[in-house]
Amino acid sequence: MSKTQQPTPAGNEPAPHELDPERIIDVQFERACAHLTDIDPGLIQVLRRPRRTLTVNVPIERDDGSLANFVGYRVLHNRLLGPGKGGIRYHPRVSLPEVGALAALMTWKCALVRVPFGGAKGGVTCDPKHLSERELRHITRRFISELGDNIGPYTDIPAPDLYTSSQTMAWILDTFDAMHPGKNNLPVVTGKPLELGGSEGRDEATGRGCVYSAERLVSLGAVPGLSELDGASVVIQGYGEVGRVAAQLLHELGARIIAVSDSRGAVLDPEGLDLSALARHKAATGSVLGFDESRSITAAELLALECDLLIPAALGGQIHSGNAGQVKARLIVEGANRPITPEADDILTDKGILVLPDILANAGGVTVSYYEWVQNIEHHTWPLEEINSKLRVRMNDATDRVAARWRQFTPPADETAPDSQRRDLRTAALVESLERLAHVLKQRGIWP
Ligand code: NAD
Repeated sequence: MSKTQQPTPAGNEPAPHELDPERIIDVQFERACAHLTDIDPGLIQVLRRPRRTLTVNVPIERDDGSLANFVGYRVLHNRLLGPGKGGIRYHPRVSLPEVGALAALMTWKCALVRVPFGGAKGGVTCDPKHLSERELRHITRRFISELGDNIGPYTDIPAPDLYTSSQTMAWILDTFDAMHPGKNNLPVVTGKPLELGGSEGRDEATGRGCVYSAERLVSLGAVPGLSELDGASVVIQGYGEVGRVAAQLLHELGARIIAVSDSRGAVLDPEGLDLSALARHKAATGSVLGFDESRSITAAELLALECDLLIPAALGGQIHSGNAGQVKARLIVEGANRPITPEADDILTDKGILVLPDILANAGGVTVSYYEWVQNIEHHTWPLEEINSKLRVRMNDATDRVAARWRQFTPPADETAPDSQRRDLRTAALVESLERLAHVLKQRGIWP
């Protein structure tokens, strides 16, 4: 058992600290830093801390006339490469540590795929399932007005995230526009509705990017026993926007989608699910559960299925020390942000299972957000084919660089000596990203 692994707690549930978002980011960061021995450690540490953290009170009048107070956060992690970029989520579990951890991931992701953005994230602690559309609009407008000039087209650019949508982005644009009349404010936010400056292909971009990156990695011969996606078996946890698009594109490449899940249940057909019939069932019932051309399985059984590709596309912390030992995929493609804990990473590495990490696998979303921002600044719209082909080029390039970096990792000459260096794809991706950020920080110099 490697040093960071913790004993598996009873009931296969991980100890709470294993899921602590700040700790997960710290461990991933330290694993990459172990490879960055040529860079001033002080410089590296500047890159870890957020540049600015804001906490604001968001009071609104509810539909019944009562007053309610919510708390909102915006963390600007880093702006070395360009304006901060990152989603805004509305969820009861939104907390400053989580928002901060996700903001750091955004910095690393943007640097890795070489879009000229820094990293940021925001959120309001609230339960959108118990709020009306009018109340959500009031929360959004008040939150954005409290953030004031801390967001802007050239400073910090929000986007949708958990339980926020293109509608939320339309309200953000409208609020910011009211505060800054007479300017082109379209680029203040991405993920907007198409009629309001949104981009073709943005909705599909994250799932599409997952598939492009997996396809490229497989074509590089990096995944033992898997030479192409045609005929591959695929399991998807989280049949939402990301999971559904990835499933469809993989199906078009000849893969068999054998199991999918959502928050209500999981279904299996070893011969391959009929995705059109599944889409009709989900549209009619709101869930994949009960799809009659399949067999119901548990969430734990889904993660333990033998398959070529496993795509966690739901929430963070889903694969942990309590269940990683059961995973039997050849390659895990992280559609969601940080779905695998560091302890699970160790177990999967020991089992020879490759993980295409979140900052690479799900970077298609921020990449097309960047294209939306450019189109808004240019007062122009690009056709879908152009966007998808630009996305493919960028995902291929990032995947090639990560794979090359990973192949450069050399194991110690003495295999019996203690070895603190990780040589997985996640570490390779982070080294690639941090090295670039450290280089740019050195070029720019620390202010003053
Ligand atoms: P979504 O809300 O459209 O879909 C999420 C799906 O996961 C839903 O079907 C939900 O029912 C399911 N789910 C929730 N809890 C689950 C559980 N415990 N087990 C199985 N399924 C569960 O969200 P999305 O846009 O598809 O995003 C999915 C993940 O990808 C999120 O973690 C998000 O942060 C991440 N991500 C999304 C984007 C993007 O552009 N949409 C970009 C980067 C990362």
